[in-house]
Amino acid sequence: PDPERDRLLQAYEWSAKFYHYLLKNTEHGTAAMEYLRSRNFSDQMIDKFQIGYAPDRWDTLLQFLEKRNFDLGEMEKGGLLSARSEGKGYVDRFRGRIIFPIANRTGKVIAFAGRILGEGQPKYLNSPDSKLFNKSRILYNLHQSKASIRKTRQIVLFEGYGDVISAWEAGVHNGVATMGTSLTDGHVALLKSLADEIVLSYDGDRAGQAAAMKAIGLLEANELQVKVALLPSGLDPDEFVSRYGGDRFREQVIESAVSPVKFKLIYLKKNHILLEEDGKIAYVKEALEVIATLHSSTEREVYLREIASELELSYDSLKQDCNLLRASMQ
Ligand code: ATP
Ligand code: MN
Ligand code: MN
Ligand code: MN
Repeated sequence: PDPERDRLLQAYEWSAKFYHYLLKNTEHGTAAMEYLRSRNFSDQMIDKFQIGYAPDRWDTLLQFLEKRNFDLGEMEKGGLLSARSEGKGYVDRFRGRIIFPIANRTGKVIAFAGRILGEGQPKYLNSPDSKLFNKSRILYNLHQSKASIRKTRQIVLFEGYGDVISAWEAGVHNGVATMGTSLTDGHVALLKSLADEIVLSYDGDRAGQAAAMKAIGLLEANELQVKVALLPSGLDPDEFVSRYGGDRFREQVIESAVSPVKFKLIYLKKNHILLEEDGKIAYVKEALEVIATLHSSTEREVYLREIASELELSYDSLKQDCNLLRASMQ
């Protein structure tokens, strides 16, 4: 038994309810509600994910917690309050931010992520690691996605909270997200204990694609099957759903996810100008290094033939180079 931990759990549970109430039922939440609407967050999703709003004032939560006799020092350590920069006392940690409650796998709120309304820095402010919360082990939405994961043995991995929420509304109920960190060994162990296959659905920007490249290696090293969902460049999953709708997201993005090799070939290709000989040769060299690692000769043939026809090269010469490379890799 850890009474301090229990008190912090209680504080998070009540604070989440309080912020959700302020968003939905008070004037403090009007602008935040408009912002959420402009981003196509529905009432059902706002309830399902218990989204809230922390008003842009110093002492909204402070007073709420004080009235309920919480120890304010404990609340500061737990990440709900901040110490005043000058003098004694505390202020609200989250001010003028949309609140996304982060739950553990049993559904208890253990941290908040707070998003600024519109533009500004930092875009997200999270609770610090605490007695309850270790960001390198937590997957957002695991408590609600568990049931679907158990059935499908598959997990869709997103970068952001909004992505998980939009995907849920689109019918993808096995989605989780890391807390803004790249994938850790702790996450991989957790994923491995729950599923056989991971679908990476990261942002369609450079950072997202680079993160996917890294994640593929880590997941495959741990014997998880991997697929990669492709997005038009510049869009993240949430933006795709807003623009093209949930059905298209499910069918054309998640259900059409490609093999890691296919993704790597697409990713590598972007760095080269294939109309120039040098670019073509450099791309083929990098592509062969990926294809040569495949154990199945059928799979190698499939990709080699694709490249052959795309770049107007002979399958035979590609195959020969690939086999040379394989021999040198032994
Ligand atoms: P939004 O759609 O609200 O702009 P996003 O999820 O698309 O947010 P990204 O910039 O794509 O935001 O970042 C992906 C994730 O990385 C975020 O959801 C958040 O978890 C994390 N993140 C981004 N910026 C920060 C930050 N300044 N501090 C902490 N975490 C961050
Ligand atoms: Mn991004
Ligand atoms: Mn994003
Ligand atoms: Mn986004």
